[in-house]
Amino acid sequence: MNLFQTIFTGSKQALAAAEGIVKKAVEEKGRDHKVAFPDTAYSLPVIYAATGKKITTVAELEGALDIVRSLIVEEEMLDKALNSGLATAVAAEIVEAAKYVLSDAPYSEPCVGFVSDPIIRSLGVPLVTGDIPGVAVVLGECPDAESAAKVIKDYQSKGIMTFLVGKVIDQAIEGNVKMGLDLRVVPLGYDVTSVIHVVTVAIRAALIFGGVKPGNLAEVLQYCSDRVPAFVNAFGPLSELVVSCGAGAIALGFPVITDQTVTEVPTLLLTQKDYDKVVKTSLEARKIKIKVTEIPIPVAFAAAFEGERIRKNDMFAEFGGGKTEGWELVMSAEPGEIEDHKIEVIGPDIDSITTAPGRMPLGMLIKVAGANMQKDFEPVLERRLHYFLNYIEGVMHVGQRNLTWLRIGKEAFEKGFRLKHFGEVVYAKMLDEFGSVVDKCEVTIITDPDKVVELKDKLAMPRFAERDERLSNLIDEKVDTFYTCNLCQSFAPAHICIVTPERLGLCGAVSWLDAKATLELNPTGPCQAVPKEGVVDENYGIWERVNEAVSKGSQGAVNEVTLYSILNSPMTSCGCFECITGIMPEANGVVIVNREFGAVTPLGMTFGELASMTGGGVQTPGFMGHGRSFIPSKKFMRAEGGIERIVWMPKELKDFVADKLNATAKELYDIDNFADRICDETIATDSDAVLAFLTEKEHPALNMDPIM
Ligand code: SF4
Ligand code: ZN
Repeated sequence: MNLFQTIFTGSKQALAAAEGIVKKAVEEKGRDHKVAFPDTAYSLPVIYAATGKKITTVAELEGALDIVRSLIVEEEMLDKALNSGLATAVAAEIVEAAKYVLSDAPYSEPCVGFVSDPIIRSLGVPLVTGDIPGVAVVLGECPDAESAAKVIKDYQSKGIMTFLVGKVIDQAIEGNVKMGLDLRVVPLGYDVTSVIHVVTVAIRAALIFGGVKPGNLAEVLQYCSDRVPAFVNAFGPLSELVVSCGAGAIALGFPVITDQTVTEVPTLLLTQKDYDKVVKTSLEARKIKIKVTEIPIPVAFAAAFEGERIRKNDMFAEFGGGKTEGWELVMSAEPGEIEDHKIEVIGPDIDSITTAPGRMPLGMLIKVAGANMQKDFEPVLERRLHYFLNYIEGVMHVGQRNLTWLRIGKEAFEKGFRLKHFGEVVYAKMLDEFGSVVDKCEVTIITDPDKVVELKDKLAMPRFAERDERLSNLIDEKVDTFYTCNLCQSFAPAHICIVTPERLGLCGAVSWLDAKATLELNPTGPCQAVPKEGVVDENYGIWERVNEAVSKGSQGAVNEVTLYSILNSPMTSCGCFECITGIMPEANGVVIVNREFGAVTPLGMTFGELASMTGGGVQTPGFMGHGRSFIPSKKFMRAEGGIERIVWMPKELKDFVADKLNATAKELYDIDNFADRICDETIATDSDAVLAFLTEKEHPALNMDPIM
């Protein structure tokens, strides 16, 4: 059989499997039964993207089989082969959707199956910053667990997001690969068709971030090919089904690298039988470049370990966390005061722990100096400590400032990890990430109990107080410069954020100080200065220079934005926003929901469904994506009446903003404990019940001018 015949055969097998399972769904559940993947606003994403139609019932699922049939045209030509690959993708999606019809929970540990919209949105920022440099799909089975684990761990150490399909999942478990979404190794499922769950991630990226219209398959494929840095490793004997899946991957622009002998297609289909070289060959084929910083520590260091938790039983040493003192401080100093790369430990090291787990106080003092260093950058650098320390395999870091909490695992200790290695990591990363402002860096790690307290009181606390003072005075009125951020353009080509002291980037990761530092670090980079000039309307937050920056940054797609309004030319959204605000007309106010909240809001929609109303760099009056910290600001939809319009938020988000929100409400409207008047899911989510609660609490929104 030649390659064409193999692909067509595979597609026909996929079609037969889809027909079989749909028949079963019809028999067991009936044609009217609902069809849906969990927590998505994009229905069956492949079919939705290809046709613009949402499949909602088993009858429609049955009808979608015709799409598969129409895509299989057995002529030995490249475009027909690629279409056949797409047919396999559609058939696989039908099979997987039918699994969700036949069972409420078709996937169980360790497999995840369908990946929800909020998870995809949360991947936006790490992908655009290159923190996740690529996406690997590892499918099939290696000759042994060792080879499989080696390849997967290599991807993990490079920060690649790796999805596993098939027996390789068991091999990864056998090879002690640490798995989970947080650790960037995600087992999808054992059937080949479960590979569709990563395909729909790529396709939804086009719809969510790219603003591509459903039904425009050519544009979706182009988007995936241009902007989704994914590739496939197919290991073990290639069945016809796997080969036709491979054709589907290639149609999306994802190269396939296999350990089998195949007729190679340059850059698209490659053979690599040496498992030591698979990773290199794959990254080269997808043109993914990995930046490596060699750090002299005895354990691995990779962004993929950020989400690693050290549980009590695995713990060797613990610092801070409310049980002992724990603080960290980055401070600028004169170059003469600093000895570059000096790492000093004052007090006992963890060797002194005789029975694990042991507890110690910990102070971490990082002094930096450089001609371009500014005091304003100290908190920007300091906040990165959380990531640097978490990237260490076997170390967990939580919190910041004088509320840090660290754990070192037993395994790390056994491998030789000691306190000075914290210093090595911090030193290397400070110079690596902040090289244009940091010329010299010195790290002091303190465990001596008296010294920890002494330096905290003498150095750290006054510095924190000084910064808080600076931040509380940092309001939009008091600066003459805003900043743009266009990092998300690699996914959302027309989107640009305007970052002001009070309105941080909608991802929550870029504050005004961050943007200012980013510009200093990289003058031609993602953040550019916008002089706050040419005021058009201060209440709405309209400035001519801002409009020009947005127009230029969006290549003319958007020509006017207001910074403080949700109804008139609101700021665009890329898709990775922390929260979304939408209008609840009957309450004369707005509902805010954060990405982590999974249930339905009083607007009758989930976060994912609301989020799908906006994004892709277009303006959608009435919907606004934004960061958590923007909520308690005096500028939050000021044009429509400000925070008094907030009628509902999930409890967790409400608690998160309560203190600041109450302070703003007191200052602006002389309302005490405003947060208590805002409804949440523990009180009500049904519209009538929410209204009853608001009435009982005399919520101010009820008496304001009509919002629309
Ligand atoms: Fe993306 Fe805006 Fe965050 Fe920049 S500030 S990374 S453009 S969401
Ligand atoms: Zn974004």
